[in-house]
Amino acid sequence: MSKPNPFETAQKQLDVCAKILNLDAGVHQMLRCPMRELHVSIPVKMDDGSTKVFQGFRVQYNDALGPTKGGIRFHPEETVDTVRALAAWMTWKTSLLDLPLGGGKGGVICNPKELSTGEQERLCRGYIDAIWQFIGPDKDVPAPDVYTTPQMMAWMMDEFSKLSGKNRFGVITGKPICVGGSWGRGDATARGGMFTIREAARELSIDMKTATVAIQGYGNAGCHASFLVQEMFGSKVVAISDSKGGIYNPAGLDIQAACGIKGETTSVVNTPNVQKISNEELLELDVDVLILAALENVVTAENAPRIKAKIVAELANGPTTPEADEILHKKGIHVIPDFLCNAGGVTVSYFEMVQNMSMYTWTLEDVYERLDVRMTNAYSKVLEASKRFGIDMRQAAYTVAVERVVEAMTSRGWV
Ligand code: GLU
Repeated sequence: MSKPNPFETAQKQLDVCAKILNLDAGVHQMLRCPMRELHVSIPVKMDDGSTKVFQGFRVQYNDALGPTKGGIRFHPEETVDTVRALAAWMTWKTSLLDLPLGGGKGGVICNPKELSTGEQERLCRGYIDAIWQFIGPDKDVPAPDVYTTPQMMAWMMDEFSKLSGKNRFGVITGKPICVGGSWGRGDATARGGMFTIREAARELSIDMKTATVAIQGYGNAGCHASFLVQEMFGSKVVAISDSKGGIYNPAGLDIQAACGIKGETTSVVNTPNVQKISNEELLELDVDVLILAALENVVTAENAPRIKAKIVAELANGPTTPEADEILHKKGIHVIPDFLCNAGGVTVSYFEMVQNMSMYTWTLEDVYERLDVRMTNAYSKVLEASKRFGIDMRQAAYTVAVERVVEAMTSRGWV
C-alpha cells in the first residue's frame, strides 16, 4: 500500500473541521492551500570538487496572525507536499498556542548524514542565498526540524546577516545561546509535550508516578522525552526505538545507557541486556503512554486496532492517519494531537524572537514557567472544545486553531 500523502491528510483534517465550524466556502478554500511557496535549486561545491544541485522549498502557508514560522527539514525523502502539510500544521500550531505568528515550513531534499561538515555548511548558506529575500524577522522565521541543528541555524543566520549588511539574529530561531539562542530551546518540544501528558493523565486519572511509557523515535524530541518522563514524573520507560529497531525491558530501561549507545553506534538496538523488538511491536505494547516521536504515517488503519496505550502523545508531526484517528477515538484512546503536543518547540522559538527583539535574555526558569502556562492553557482549551462538540482531541484542536485564524483573516478584511 502506498503511503498517504501528508498534504492530503492535512486537507482532510481541515475539511472535517470546516464542517464542524460550518465555515464559509471561500474561507475554507483559502485555508486549504498555502498562500505562497518558493521552489529553489541550490548548487553546492562538494569536497571532491564536483557540484551537486539540491532541491529546496519554503512554504508560507498563512500569515494572517503574523510572520510565518516553522522549521527546515533536511531529509532524503522530502517532498513539497510534506512541506505543505507541515506548513499547514504550523499555522494551526501557532494559532492554538496564541502566538502572534502564522505558519510556514522549509525543506531540502538531502541526506545530511552523508555530507561532510563543510558540505553541510555550504548547503545551509546556499539555501539562505536562494530564499533570503523571501524570509526575515517580520516576514518568515525558520527554525530547526528533522536533521537540522543549532549549528546549522547559526550558519543560516550568519549568511542572512551578511546579505543584509547587519546582524539579524531574529531571522531564525533554535540558534546556539552565544548567537541569540534561548535557554530551554533544546528540549522545548519534549518538555512542552510533558506538560500536555501531565494534563491528559490528570484528566484520565492516570498516576504518572507508576505509569509505563514507550517511545517511538529517538531523535531530539524522543531522546529528551525519555529523560523528562523519568525526571518530571518518575514514570518507567519500558521501550524505545529508532529507525533501526527497538529495545524493551518491562522492568524499565536504563535510559542513560541507551542514550550513550545511540551516541556511540547511531542506534539504541546495540544496548546490552535488553529484549529487542521491532518498531511495530513497540507501537502495540500495553503501556499507559505511547509517545510518537519519529515521522509521519506511523499509526495507520492497519495497526490502529492493535494499539493498547491509554494516551498517545504525538511529539512528531503527522504520525497518525485520519483513518487511524477514527479507530483510536472509537477505542477510547486519548490522543494528544501533534500540533498541540509538540508545540513547545515553536513556543520557545517565539520566546527566542521576543528576546532577540528586546535585546534581553530570560532565565531558564522564566522559559519553563511561561512554556508551562501556554501549553496548559492550550490543552485545556482543546479539552473543553472536545467536550463541548463531542469530538476527538484533534478535531477539537482544529476548531480552536482555525477559529482564531479565521477571526484574523476577517478582521484584516481578507474574507
Ligand atoms: N520545527 C518545529 C515544529 O515543527 C519548531 C518550529 C519553530 O520553532 O519555528 O514545531
